[in-house]
Amino acid sequence: MAVKEVFVRGYGVIDEARQLSMERPDWQDIRSRLNRQIPGTLAHCFGCHEPVFLRAGKPNSSMRPHFSHFKDGGIGCPWGQDTTRPLDRIRAGIFTGNQESELHRHMCERALELIEADARYVAGSGAVDSYMKSKDGYRGRWPDASFDIDGLGKFAIEVQFAPSLAPEVIGRSDFYAKEGVNLIWLLPWYSFEQVQRAYASDIAQEARGNFFVLDQEAERESRVRGTLVIWAAWIGERSFERKLVSLDDLTYPKGGHPFFVDAVTPAIFRTAERRRQQISLDLLETKDDIVPKRKVIFDLDEQPDEEGSRLIRSAISIWSAAKGEYINYSGHSDKLTGQIDAYLNSNDGRRRAVIINQMLVSTQARPCIKRSVWEKIERADLHDQLDDSDRWVAYVHSLFPEVFRVDLRSEALVAGSLPTWAIPAG
Ligand SMILES: [Zn+2]
Repeated sequence: MAVKEVFVRGYGVIDEARQLSMERPDWQDIRSRLNRQIPGTLAHCFGCHEPVFLRAGKPNSSMRPHFSHFKDGGIGCPWGQDTTRPLDRIRAGIFTGNQESELHRHMCERALELIEADARYVAGSGAVDSYMKSKDGYRGRWPDASFDIDGLGKFAIEVQFAPSLAPEVIGRSDFYAKEGVNLIWLLPWYSFEQVQRAYASDIAQEARGNFFVLDQEAERESRVRGTLVIWAAWIGERSFERKLVSLDDLTYPKGGHPFFVDAVTPAIFRTAERRRQQISLDLLETKDDIVPKRKVIFDLDEQPDEEGSRLIRSAISIWSAAKGEYINYSGHSDKLTGQIDAYLNSNDGRRRAVIINQMLVSTQARPCIKRSVWEKIERADLHDQLDDSDRWVAYVHSLFPEVFRVDLRSEALVAGSLPTWAIPAG
């Protein structure tokens, strides 16, 4: 049975209703972060307080993505234990597959042969199935193929025809990233539905939602251009897209792997924008309601949560000001600076000065705030601040990934894909 309510750091409480409305980019983002165990990204079940992981859904089936206890976990949980297969058995099932097939080896040799035609190929650097040592003495890896290109650096190619476990995907990806090796993951062709299969989606996530294919057409184009040409494919806003690209067409992010189009960041920003539009309407409609009339923010016992509500109303107001269309979602001051001043004067506001500060300095809302209010923020007791282990602080983080997701924000700023409101003013 699926875990009904979980807390995910950086996302907040994800209850059944939110699970139902959550979209694919967010599921995949949470899944990859949990599998990577990014410090601070942890999830636990509200029934038994044990850690959970995210099981991918199955396309074309009724199984949606859902949270699950680990093996032997969830004893005494009101939502029941899980019947996950032991990892070893899954692993055995996968690796007796066609990993070492003829086709697999053929693909690696073909990729090498094509890249060797490039004048920048470093003679003698190409290898198939050759051990790559770790610089720091960690366990090394066996990339399917590897080579060096003058000016572009070291490359590893992994050819993946059979499903792979998410921790394996993450493990390989992180190894190459740590070694400063560009990883290109070649998959067979998938349709739009198939790429939503767990492992293809996990792999694509490591290249910002891109997966790469070397087929006969790409091979022909490689021979014409005298370098390795592969298909980059990704799920766009509306359709499945693909383009023939060379290694020079790719973007090489610091600490990550090359991609052609960043299909992950914009998708996460888009889903957050849809959530913000909805919640800002709800907040406006319920602005002057008093308990026990309808409220939109509830705690776990289904009681109206006043502190959570004030925080979210303040954050949404800052966002509206950053867009140049200020609306006061909590009080009646007609200036943002007055609204934030009042908030910081309250006991709960004082404990959230850091998150308010981050919303202000990271956006166009900054000039809206008067000096006296900045001084108030500076005087806030840093030892008494709530962090993202608080459900509503985490919720605000997930509502504004453009501000709080440092991993996405800095790249988006460089790529020019950060929305104007989230660009720091002045
Ligand atoms: Zn549980």
